[in-house]
Amino acid sequence: MLTRREFLAGAGAAAAAAALGAGCLRPSPGGAAPAQPPDLAKLSDHLLVYRGAINVGVVRDGAKALLIDCGDGRVAEALAPAGITTVDQVIFTHHHRDQACGAWSLAAQGARVGAAASERDWFDKVDAYWGNPKNRWHNYSQHPNRLMLAEPVRVDAAFAPGDSFTWGPATVRVLSTPGHTDGSLSYVVEVDGRRTVFCGDAIAGPGQVWDIHSLQKGTQTTDYHGFMGARPQLIESLGRIKAADASALVPSHGCIMTDPPAAIDATVAALDRCYDKYVAISALRHYFPKLFAEYADRKDHMPIRPGKDVPACLRHFGTTWMLVSRDKAAFVMDCGGAKAIKEIKDRQAAGEISAVEGLWITHYHDDHTDGIPEFQKAFDCPCITDRSVASVITDPMAWRLPCISPNKARVDRTAADGESWPWHEFKMTAYHFPGQTLYHSGLLVESGDLRMFFCGDSFTMAGIDDYCAMNRNWLGRGTGFDYCIALLEKLRPTHIFNPHVDQAFDFTAEQCRFMRANLAERETLYGRLVPWEHANYGMDEPWVRCHPYEQPIAPGGEAAFDVVVTNHSTGPRAFACRAVLPRAWKPELSQGAACKTTAAGVVTAWVNGEAAAKADGSVRLTFRIPEQCPRGRYVVPVDLTCAGRDLPQFTEAIITV
Ligand SMILES: [Zn+2]
Ligand SMILES: [Zn+2]
Repeated sequence: MLTRREFLAGAGAAAAAAALGAGCLRPSPGGAAPAQPPDLAKLSDHLLVYRGAINVGVVRDGAKALLIDCGDGRVAEALAPAGITTVDQVIFTHHHRDQACGAWSLAAQGARVGAAASERDWFDKVDAYWGNPKNRWHNYSQHPNRLMLAEPVRVDAAFAPGDSFTWGPATVRVLSTPGHTDGSLSYVVEVDGRRTVFCGDAIAGPGQVWDIHSLQKGTQTTDYHGFMGARPQLIESLGRIKAADASALVPSHGCIMTDPPAAIDATVAALDRCYDKYVAISALRHYFPKLFAEYADRKDHMPIRPGKDVPACLRHFGTTWMLVSRDKAAFVMDCGGAKAIKEIKDRQAAGEISAVEGLWITHYHDDHTDGIPEFQKAFDCPCITDRSVASVITDPMAWRLPCISPNKARVDRTAADGESWPWHEFKMTAYHFPGQTLYHSGLLVESGDLRMFFCGDSFTMAGIDDYCAMNRNWLGRGTGFDYCIALLEKLRPTHIFNPHVDQAFDFTAEQCRFMRANLAERETLYGRLVPWEHANYGMDEPWVRCHPYEQPIAPGGEAAFDVVVTNHSTGPRAFACRAVLPRAWKPELSQGAACKTTAAGVVTAWVNGEAAAKADGSVRLTFRIPEQCPRGRYVVPVDLTCAGRDLPQFTEAIITV
């Protein structure tokens, strides 16, 4: 066994620097130039790690290699100077596109492909995922998620936990380590008298995981309600990795760890602490108290506030609150479907209300918007909402978001943030309210002593609704829920209303302070949990996204979409993007000067952009659809480099030809 010093001496400068650091290498902010030069770190005579966009394990046997993961496939070029000319096998820890997008070219050159039996379909049958409307509309499931290969790759060997095999001088044992994905595996490699675990994205460094949103998983309900829901599974997996008793741990993203037990213990402790802080102010405690039985009566969690009676001017049915004026006019908030419309018509027929004079939409989720088109046929009144909500519900095809409805709504008026108008005896004021989702509004309705605030799904009497990471809940002072709570502190509503809660409620000044302090603490804790410049990169799955997400283009036409990068950092960040074109288009497009062939496919030229601090930046990618392109719905992944990071195929757009 090598000493720590001997190990570091052999491991190459980058690996050594990473191993010596308390956490992981944080790329220096700045230019958009693609990644640091690839580095082949030698762990022992027959074991190397290629440190590119991801860490790729390389077991060598003369001129042949077995790879663990392959990233974008550029590893093959780096192997040649080391005398490795043939990739015999590539085995995958998990199916994510950034791990595996180079697999196709390696397979085409004869490499055998191995993957978890339980994730096999996510390699060789990815068309089924992309073609299933359930993964696009009304989506409450994140397993698997969209970081799925764009096109299928052949699988030659399907591994089950406990399998082991020898390859050249090495023995490889397969561990089941779900959490980051449902079927994630780790490989325990024994070679040159050393034991090393390649653990995919189970851990990124001491006390760190690659991201938080991958842990979104439902246990008793859907994934939608499961913020960090895969945490218990991941902790179990980390225990299994620890029990393998290896001298080094190599994650896909992050640093090589030379003290695996310490790194794992720190990560488990960090996950527990982060989850505890989440539960402490979670709105979900109101809906599903059993989910948090083990956290009941915690002194350091926010007590759940009792509800309040609802003023006589309001009606509640389905996900709709309806305001009724003294002269019986109705103002409807949200319309989840036909039942709500029938309810309104019945009340009209019974003489309880007269005219329906307006429809307000709190946020874009399907349970609040599915019924809008029918509502608009039934009642002749304006639909009003915040601009962010309108941008989604008037053009849902352009967005990929959880719980989105494909029903296109007509919005007659977008209210500016803070805009007021009278309605019968009430005064209404519209607010942008980036709580439960970024695409969310708030409405203050005042009359006499009543200050009624319609908060959409953002709060219950138990706290905040941030239980689905894909909804985009940002941490940081003046953003996300901190912004929303500060607004409540300013507006001081007497009653708060959530469309899913029968009662009214309110928060004390102390509760508002408590929630904001919790959010500030989480910004720090979550920031430490992930190897990124800010917690939000680990929380906010769509921080890089294509707009429009999906569009129809005729053969021969030009596709164009923006790649929008949300810069969660405190300084400006440069980035660059390019599209990876479907293989079916290759024959024509590869002749274009603007495109080139890489290990992961034919790509367009890089386009550079910049995003100001805490703001969105975007670049436009354009390319022509070949005249002879077969009809179909194509997934177009986008490569991104940002602040020194190389993020292959990190997001995607959909082109329907
Ligand atoms: Zn991954
Ligand atoms: Zn809802």
